[in-house]
Formats: sequence, C-alpha cells, structure tokens
Amino acid sequence: MTTASFNALVLRETDGKTSAAVEQLSSADLPHEEVLVKVAYSSINYKDAMAVTGTGKIIRKFPMVPGIDLAGTVVESNNAQFQPGDEVVMTGWSVGERYWGGYSQMQRLNAEWLLPLPEKISLKQSMLIGTAGLTAMLCVIALEQAGITPQSGKVVVSGASGGVGSVAILLLSRLGYQVTALTREVNESAQNYFTALGATEIIGGEEWKVAPKPLEAQKWAAAVDTVGGTVLARLLAEMDYQGAVAACGLAGGFQLSTTVMPFILRGVKLLGVDSVMCPNPLRTLAWQRLARDLDFSVLAAAERCTGLDGIHAIAVEMMAGKSRGRVVVDLN
Ligand code: NDP
Repeated sequence: MTTASFNALVLRETDGKTSAAVEQLSSADLPHEEVLVKVAYSSINYKDAMAVTGTGKIIRKFPMVPGIDLAGTVVESNNAQFQPGDEVVMTGWSVGERYWGGYSQMQRLNAEWLLPLPEKISLKQSMLIGTAGLTAMLCVIALEQAGITPQSGKVVVSGASGGVGSVAILLLSRLGYQVTALTREVNESAQNYFTALGATEIIGGEEWKVAPKPLEAQKWAAAVDTVGGTVLARLLAEMDYQGAVAACGLAGGFQLSTTVMPFILRGVKLLGVDSVMCPNPLRTLAWQRLARDLDFSVLAAAERCTGLDGIHAIAVEMMAGKSRGRVVVDLN
C-alpha cells in the first residue's frame, strides 16, 4: 500500500439502493482536507451498520467512504497542530456520513476533527473504544454531573450486549456502581458475558415491550439507555426519587411516549448524550477518563476484529441485533 494506491470500502447508490465494495483508490481521490492520515484501525458502530446496509438516511452524498471512527498516523499536514508521525484518533463530526471516513487505508481529514492519541491508549485500543465507548463514557460523566454516585443505588444499562452498553457496564462496575444489564434475551451465555463485564444482575423480558404506567415501583438510581422507545419509557417510570437517565440511543426505536409524572413527582432527570458534535474539551476529558477507568483486558475479551472485506457481513448481523461487544476494523 502507498499513498498512490490503497484500498477503501466505497458505498455507491444506484436506483435508490446502496452497494458496498472494496475499491482501489489513490490520494487524488481523497477529499481536499488538511491532514493525510494512514489509518491503522477503525471500528463498526450501529450507525456504520446502518450506513453500510443502506438502512435509514445516514449517508448524505455518494460515493461515500463510511466509517465514523479512525485511528492512525499523520503522513502529511497543512495544519501546525499536527506533524507527520503524530498518532491521532477521530470519532464523529459527521465523518463517514457527510465526509469520507475510516474504512480506508488512507484518509484526508480536517485538523479540528482530530485529537492526539490519548496517553496510555494504543491505536487499536482507541478503536476498541471508538464512538460507542466514548458515548458510554459521556453517559457516565453526565450521570456524575447529575449527582449520581455509587452510593446512590443501582444503575441499569439497556441494549447491554451492544457496543455502548458493554463499555458502559464495564466502566460503571469498575467505578464501584452496582450494575444491572438489561438485555432482550436472558440466557446462560448472556449471564456469563455480563458477569464478566461486571454486572451483578441481568434482566429482560416481555414487560420491556409493554408501555408502562405513568409511575411504576422505584428500582433504579440511574440508567444508561441505548434503546429508546418503550424501554426508555419504562426506565423513566421506574426511576428512584431524583434518579437520572442518560439517553443516547434508539436501537429499539426513536419514539418516546411518556408522561411528566416521573419529572414532576420524582424529580427524575432525562439527560441527552451526543458524541458526534461533542466539543473537544469534553471529548478530551472523556478520553482521559477512559484511559484511567477502563479495564482493557476485559474489554479485549469482548472484541472482534475484521478487515475491510468483512465489514458488510458484520453490519448485517448488527442490524439484525445479533452482534455483541465491539468490532475493530484492522486496515492492514
Ligand atoms: P449495537 O448494535 O452494538 O448494540 C445495540 C444493542 O441494542 C443490541 O446489542 C441489543 O442489545 C439492543 N437492541 C438491538 N435491537 C433492539 C431492538 N429492536 N429492541 C431493543 N433492543 C435492541 O449498537 P451501539 O451500542 O453501537 O449503539 C446503541 C445505540 O446508541 C444505537 O441506537 C446508536 O445509534 C446509539 N448511539 C448514539 C450515540 C450518540 O452520540 N448519541 C453514539 C453511539 C451510539 P441486547 O441484545 O442486549 O438487548
């Protein structure tokens, strides 16, 4: 691979249908941005799976190189902040949706989207974290800022086997919280998986598909919700007095049918979390916290790795809700 010729996964649209294929590109094909990066690793997030399978309207223009995350080494830079040889990490900023992204051995990027690779984190570990892990950390920070501590009571994490959910469980348990994993299918394999991540209770079942009463029995001091829909509605109805819910996802639907009762009678806080346009000072804090608070040995056990040619099959699996943990894309 040289800057003259390298591989990328390219999405094209024909008659409204999205196709994905590995193509050979040259540096002349890349966007005119400031920093040329040799990409070492990317990852597969829910949004990537949507983009690659053509689900929803994630891609703003075709052809598109998807991949909302990347980590690699600067090759050329027209910005004084970055020099050749610098290791960098990038998540979000609509890269892989509006701008060409991480599923390419080389990519040109705006310097403002890049952060120096955090200390004590390798390029590969940064993509084991990726957008999903960063979002999990942002949820934890949001709960902390809302006054939640390990002494507050139980924390429940929904969509628990997904990327965000898995990292959230790992982080919260490491920080001393008593964590409940909320998952669609409670079985022996799920028990083993969530116990290894540090959850002390695993729940699920039909009630999570049914709209709750305005207020249910109080069960949780806090929640990280990646599912939305009736799951988020039930979480809100089950929160303790002055509990807080960090809502970041819509794996089960984007709608939310609830009442004001949890807010006005129990002082429950609903905290929105976004990682895409998150300002750099908060991102930097989140990466520092990840370097400090995450147990990489446990996270690595929940890792899968693929090359460019394996992305589409995993994206299909992810859209079917059958994937678990984090998927790293090795560009080499
Ligand atoms: P994953 O696909 O890795 O995980 C999603 C999990 O949700 C699944 O593993 C499954 O967990 C559960 N799930 C899947 N389908 C359904 C369904 N139909 N009903 C209920 N539960 C379901 O995705 P991520 O963890 O990467 O992302 C989770 C969500 O968070 C997505 O909606 C994503 O778009 C969003 N997100 C938002 C970000 C932000 O900045 N706000 C950033 C990153 C992600 P189980 O089997 O355990 O129930």
